[in-house]
Amino acid sequence: MRNPMFVHDEALTDLVLDYCRRRLALDPVPLDWGGTHGSLEGALAGLINPLGNSPETVLGIFRDRLADAVISCDSPRFLSFIPAAPTKAALLFDMVVSCSSLQGTSWLEAAGAVAAENQALRVLADLAGLPPGAGGCFVSGGTLGNLSALVVARDAGPAAGRPRTGRPRVAVSTEAHSSIGNTLRIIGADPLLVPVPDHRLTGHALRAALDGDPAAADLIAVVATAGTTNAGIVDDLAGVAAVAADRDLWFHVDAAYGGAGLFSPLVRDRFAGIDRADSLVVDPHKWLFAPFDCAGLLYRNPALARAVHAQEASYLEVIHDDAPDHWNPTDYAMHLTRRARGLPLWFSLAVHGTDAYRTAVDTVVTTARAAADLISATPHLDLVRDPDLSIVLFRRTGWDAADYQHWSEELLASQVGFVTPSRWEGEPVARLAFLHPDTTVDIVGEILDTMA
Ligand SMILES: *Cc1c(COP(=O)(O)O)cnc(C)c1O
Repeated sequence: MRNPMFVHDEALTDLVLDYCRRRLALDPVPLDWGGTHGSLEGALAGLINPLGNSPETVLGIFRDRLADAVISCDSPRFLSFIPAAPTKAALLFDMVVSCSSLQGTSWLEAAGAVAAENQALRVLADLAGLPPGAGGCFVSGGTLGNLSALVVARDAGPAAGRPRTGRPRVAVSTEAHSSIGNTLRIIGADPLLVPVPDHRLTGHALRAALDGDPAAADLIAVVATAGTTNAGIVDDLAGVAAVAADRDLWFHVDAAYGGAGLFSPLVRDRFAGIDRADSLVVDPHKWLFAPFDCAGLLYRNPALARAVHAQEASYLEVIHDDAPDHWNPTDYAMHLTRRARGLPLWFSLAVHGTDAYRTAVDTVVTTARAAADLISATPHLDLVRDPDLSIVLFRRTGWDAADYQHWSEELLASQVGFVTPSRWEGEPVARLAFLHPDTTVDIVGEILDTMA
């Protein structure tokens, strides 16, 4: 007799694939409401029990009680944080990865998946202008990419053999992502906070900070951001790269959000110098239209990363004794078993072609610029700065933090948009993060009209 865990298999397949078909067909995807809608405790009470439930019951509870308590980050009206806009090709292939139990740990086990993931990574490396020997792996997010890269900087970077007077230090700007601060804490490094008057780390500012720093000898790396998360500002990568080279420091570029801009001729020049990165993080689950969770982590010299991250165990020797040109993604970050999470991106890139990506990113940049123009032309609104990429910060004159918060809640309740407030130089502001190619200037106009 079959194990009871498998008795529903056939009916389940139809049921779940049918749900997926309907979800994929939603156009546009509705925003929905997030965590405060309805009683989730009541919906879930008693559901996990010794005897189980029918698949219809459980999927029904998910569909009717849980799914609309998740704000759809792939709605074109989701303009908070960093939205998502995965292609159908990528979403569907994510199901293939799941349904085929595809992992991407080692070449020995998964050469086909790894070769395809590496083809997608190479697209990112080529966009950035990294040399042919560059490589890495896909990790769960920019956070894990930043952590994995800075461990390599510490243990195998140019400063690894240098005598230090204290803890290792990493030069960062005040605008660096929160994950960089956490990373430094985890790896036992201290930040050298470089003051950046215009919120943009420059070679000049970095040099001045290093010259004025008594413990500059303990520096191991500098982190530049290519697209800050709050304002979308791209640091002076060429200037920072030059200083890093002069001082023999590891140069890490966090392009988790902004890296997609490399596709767009409208903004590509802002990234000059990114080709000099020792390590680079780009999140396809942000602006490269891939589903969660997917971040590309690239090293100029992957052998350094392998020396730091490869895990050793008697049962793993076989994957490392393999031919030297066999690539084990597991060796390049802080993980062992890993989902072949680069494949949805790979499939979508292969199906749509890179021109479609360029067009989509261009569209988003153009929409952000049009939104900035609309804000500038509206008397009671005040643009904070011209967008570098696709994030627009602005003020509503006369509003305090409570006004923004109240407005944001009303906007979601009316399903016109999901726009959460942020801060700029200590003051509350509104923030629009563009990423979905279907977000139109009309939608922006509808949202701005609610601020009158
Ligand atoms: C989003 C983001 C991160 C963190 O990436 P996750 O995928 O959320 O872990 C790091 N740096 C920047 C600049 C980001 O925008």
